[in-house]
Amino acid sequence: MFPPFTLRYARFPDRLRAPARPAPVERPELVAFNRPLAESLGFDLDAFDPERAAELLSGNALPEGAEPVALAYAGHQFGNFVPQLGDGRAVLLGEVTDRAGRVRDLQLKGSGRTPFSRGGDGRAPLGPVLREYLVSEAMHALGVPTTRALAAVTTGETVYRHVPEPGAVLTRVAASHLRVGTFQYFAARDDQEAVRLLADEAIERHYPHLADRDEGERYLGLLEATVERQAELVARWMGVGFIHGVMNTDNAAISGETIDYGPCAFMDAYDPRTVFSSIDERGRYAFVNQPPIAQWNLARFAETLLALIDEDRERAIERATAVLKAFEDRFEASRMRVMRAKLGLVTEEEGDAALVEDWLAAMQAARADFTLSFRHLADALEGPEGEARLAAELFGDREAPEAWLSRWRERLSREDADAAELARRLRGVNPAVIPRNHRVAEAIAAAENDDFGPFEALLAAITRPFEAPTGEVDYTRPPQDDERVLRTFCGT
Ligand code: AMP
Ligand code: MG
Repeated sequence: MFPPFTLRYARFPDRLRAPARPAPVERPELVAFNRPLAESLGFDLDAFDPERAAELLSGNALPEGAEPVALAYAGHQFGNFVPQLGDGRAVLLGEVTDRAGRVRDLQLKGSGRTPFSRGGDGRAPLGPVLREYLVSEAMHALGVPTTRALAAVTTGETVYRHVPEPGAVLTRVAASHLRVGTFQYFAARDDQEAVRLLADEAIERHYPHLADRDEGERYLGLLEATVERQAELVARWMGVGFIHGVMNTDNAAISGETIDYGPCAFMDAYDPRTVFSSIDERGRYAFVNQPPIAQWNLARFAETLLALIDEDRERAIERATAVLKAFEDRFEASRMRVMRAKLGLVTEEEGDAALVEDWLAAMQAARADFTLSFRHLADALEGPEGEARLAAELFGDREAPEAWLSRWRERLSREDADAAELARRLRGVNPAVIPRNHRVAEAIAAAENDDFGPFEALLAAITRPFEAPTGEVDYTRPPQDDERVLRTFCGT
């Protein structure tokens, strides 16, 4: 069933990883399987057998050629350095080469204790597994770089958190699991050989165009490329109202993919100060803080590369600092590209930034829904009815957005497109469906009672986010007061 493994990390020196066999589970049952992703990875699905798949994707049986390892990493958690974290409840089965020729990691998450488990049980409850499945697949459908979900298997076992919960294992697919924290682990031990090995691996897998540069330029280039990808990533998060929730350095991928979906959520009403995570008491990872935090994480990455960038530490710091500083401009450029597109603008004008900020300010003042405020712009273009709907539904009896809308229309008149074309553009970038927190919570609650119907229906809707859904449940609708989820638990 599995494509052949190439085994890169398993061949790294011992101190970079620890062998870790998944611990068998009682009654594995396949509850979700991502067929299109499996096909793109080169899985052989001709004789697909869900029972055999459940054995393999729970870790009860090992696919041929897999050599499971737990990866060593450190990380700053909420700003405090923890020199040893590592995969405490996940194992990398190995790497495969997908149909497009790209190397991809296959990881089981929730597969039992490893040498990095510390006090943890190595297991994952069903809720967080389904949340990661839904949100990562939604992000992919929205065009945001992300790890993917290949499968979810229930274990037939109970895990104990605040309350007993059903256990599950997620199969995650990633461009790699190299994190800022992976580099920090070895830099903190002054293990330059390992840092260099990791940097070379990152370049080979994510930034191969750097490979033939001179040494110092190559590693400065790695920092620069990572800065660029992270700036782009966070700009895209902010274009869909996504809040990661735990932007610790161990959750920052060098590939620029979104990784480690914990207490993450999409905003409903627009408020840049929004925080969902139950463990983020001071709002360190609030929506609006995501760009400076990404830059802070990149500074921690830069520190690990200094010796590779230049033998002269002062010069290395100077060069790395200049690259880090460029994050701000890169982020702003990416964000403006994202936001212009959300307003249907292809051309660039001086006043566009003010147009964007004023729309956001109007949304914030009215606590208008982030997703629908953009989605309904297409309706507003199509006639007064659409405009009235936007004003009434989203802005209520608060200050109506008429003045802004007429400014926007005036700006659109200088785009080389008619109203129908503009509406199509807008509907192609502004989603109708996001995995709203109350829907995710509802799907999880039903699944915990063995009803996977809501999970499947929600998954179907969020994987076609730009289409208005037609099913029974209105997945476009924001939560009513009694449906609102105020805190999202990490639940690891
Ligand atoms: P996370 O909050 O998922 O980014 O995880 C932070 C660290 O805690 C990582 O080193 C995880 O492997 C570890 N961890 C989280 N949950 C568990 C668990 N149930 N058992 C063992 N380690 C865990
Ligand atoms: Mg993590």
